[in-house]
Amino acid sequence: MWIGIDDTDSPAGMCTTYIGAILARRLVQGGFRVTDTRLVRLNPNVVYKTRGNAAVCIEAEGDIDAAFDLACACTEELAEFDAAGTNPGVVASLVKPPPDFYHAALRDFCTLKEACEALESVGAHYRGYKNGRGLIGATAAVASDFPDRTYEVLVYRKRENWGTPRRVDRESLFRADEMTRPHTWDTVDRENDIVVGVPHTPDPVLFGIRGESPTWVREARSYIRSEEPACEQVYTTNQGTDAHLVPGRIGALMEGRSYVVRGVVERMPITGPGGHVSLILAGEGTSVRCMAYEPTKGFRDVVRALIPGDRVVAAGSYKGESLNLEKIGIFHLADAVRIRPPVCPACAKRMTSAGTAKGYKCRICGARAREPDIERLERTIRPGWYEVPPGARRHLARPLLRGTPPWQQTLRG
Ligand code: ATP
Repeated sequence: MWIGIDDTDSPAGMCTTYIGAILARRLVQGGFRVTDTRLVRLNPNVVYKTRGNAAVCIEAEGDIDAAFDLACACTEELAEFDAAGTNPGVVASLVKPPPDFYHAALRDFCTLKEACEALESVGAHYRGYKNGRGLIGATAAVASDFPDRTYEVLVYRKRENWGTPRRVDRESLFRADEMTRPHTWDTVDRENDIVVGVPHTPDPVLFGIRGESPTWVREARSYIRSEEPACEQVYTTNQGTDAHLVPGRIGALMEGRSYVVRGVVERMPITGPGGHVSLILAGEGTSVRCMAYEPTKGFRDVVRALIPGDRVVAAGSYKGESLNLEKIGIFHLADAVRIRPPVCPACAKRMTSAGTAKGYKCRICGARAREPDIERLERTIRPGWYEVPPGARRHLARPLLRGTPPWQQTLRG
């Protein structure tokens, strides 16, 4: 059976993955066999999300009525019911709802009615609390299908420490990264010298380590020195897979969806107030603005180095009429040239323009020339893929250290 839970937390505390970890333990104590625990990230542009739009799914064997009762009891005990935006949903089903529902919740927007229809179609047990919105994420979690998957070990704090500053040794996090990279990622951001895997929010998570297998995340975890944790859970996840991206066409992008688009740089990128960089990409007879925001740090230098005529593939969410860049592939660099009046062969001084379409004239000796000096400039970037640093990465975005994005072949040209 599959058990799904979502929407149990608030900005003031709790985390659905913590309830998942507690439920997994209670199921095992109750004689159930837990075969998988999944952390399922959904559309990152959903406004109702508390933080990272995560839901959980537990795959288990045993009596479904008892499992559903346990899941509801866990949610009732731990969810932040008093928070206005917390609307928990709990699902248990012997049959997976159609994966289309997961894909819609991952890439698009769904309604509670659609979630209930998907649940009814498989005869699932379900309970929505308050306005019941959490059933959307809980349904998507049980319907989830991961053709590509990664893992995260989440380590949780003892209750008495919740809300207090986390004690996790910084050096040990850098060491964990050093010893397990590229099999784990996003524990730290070396370029910007910051810790990424330790949250700052008042939830029960102490730290998380992401990687390619349960063995590698556990290996990295073994290096970390910290306050004594309460428990930990390895989740199978769609994080770091680019599962949210769909091929898009400039001019046909829809708000709140995430795309990969092909385009040609139309004008020089502009750095605006706050250090945010905007880039205009042309394609399909129109154009779209792409943004590299200040938190993307050094990635902005890549965007700033683009010039008109460069051909790129851009990936990110389309929000507020701009594509917020997660990564960019540069496939063709345009020639960068500097056009100047030629130097007078007799006087060795640069000539000046003699007027529109009249060529150039030496101010000293009066010599004339028709053609300007065309100087080819060295480009400061190379073709290839570039991404935002770990500190600015979306949970679903696939890090380049996992290899070239598999979807790139469909876009090249
Ligand atoms: P955390 O990451 O700490 O678990 P969260 O960011 O996952 O918190 P939630 O509290 O789960 O945020 O809130 C997200 C809400 O949006 C849930 O009610 C969920 O059912 C709903 N939701 C998720 N995806 C979609 C979607 N694609 N369309 C409509 N509603 C969605």
